Amino acid sequence: MSSFVVALDVGGTSMKGGLVGRSGEIILTDRRVTPRDKGPAVVVGAIRSFIDELAVACGGTPAGVGLAVPGLVTADAALYSANIGWRDVPAADFVPLDVPVMLGHDVRTGGLAESVLGAGRELSDFLFLPIGTGIAGAVILKGEPYGGTAGWGGEIGHIPVFPNGETCACGQIGCLETYASASAVGRRYSARIAATPATSGTPTSLATPASSAPLVSSATPASVASSAPLAVPVTAEQVAALTASGDPVAREVWDDAVEALSLALATYTLLLDPSAIVLGGGLAESGRLLSDPLAERLQSRLTFREAPPLRSAVLGVRAGMLGAALLGWRAAGVPDAGATWPLDVLKSPRVA
Ligand SMILES: [Zn+2]
Repeated sequence: MSSFVVALDVGGTSMKGGLVGRSGEIILTDRRVTPRDKGPAVVVGAIRSFIDELAVACGGTPAGVGLAVPGLVTADAALYSANIGWRDVPAADFVPLDVPVMLGHDVRTGGLAESVLGAGRELSDFLFLPIGTGIAGAVILKGEPYGGTAGWGGEIGHIPVFPNGETCACGQIGCLETYASASAVGRRYSARIAATPATSGTPTSLATPASSAPLVSSATPASVASSAPLAVPVTAEQVAALTASGDPVAREVWDDAVEALSLALATYTLLLDPSAIVLGGGLAESGRLLSDPLAERLQSRLTFREAPPLRSAVLGVRAGMLGAALLGWRAAGVPDAGATWPLDVLKSPRVA
């Protein structure tokens, strides 16, 4: 058997690929643009080419291929993705002839990596919750991600938390994602500022210098920000910095996000009794600014039981690719791959 697998994490904008050895050693990593605008057939071809290139770089045929893809997916087929536009693509279409392949849902594959290799290594049942542009979770039961009957399991971002709240992009009302995704936090702060009558030029909040991150893009002159603050895109990272510095509008938006998360996590906790909640993604990088009030709010909602501890994901942007490597080894007939892979090996070399 070949000594490596090809692992690919396919996102809507880019594909992160790697060659991963039998002991978890990351031989090579690379990245390609996902040619989504050229249609699903071109994306499938680009994935196939990327796999070929990675395999050639290692001078041989891989033992297996693992692919993490968005949308509805089984181990054998990418059934549907609104993001990429494909329907019913068999796994074999992505790989060279006779190479065993296994597909996984992007978030669940990241959850598998956190379960086998990362923050959930010694846990059996937990929720992996990456909070980024959107929110989706990986429900981990007995160490494995659970996707439900049709593959819709884990869509915690679309749990209605405020029944009379704002309309979500999905069409439902008051979804968690509408309040607590990184993009929602930035968007809701911008909307609040836009709705505030400008009495003295730049809102104090946007003019306040940040200690660690610039609040206004360096490409945006202060005078522009002053005359047209509404046009300045605000990131969740900036709202976090403003919240930490005491900005009242940012604090409100942040509190709404924490409140929404605490409601969804209380429901999850009562339903599935997880041993931990593993937070990942961009918003979790704000650290205790998020986890401290969230832990407190979650516990306050639960009267007859302890809230599960909140943990930080440890694999970061590598989670999807490493999970895909586990799938690749499973496809190759090594179901227990990852059990002995040391974390320091997984962190080196730096993933592109
Ligand atoms: Zn929704």
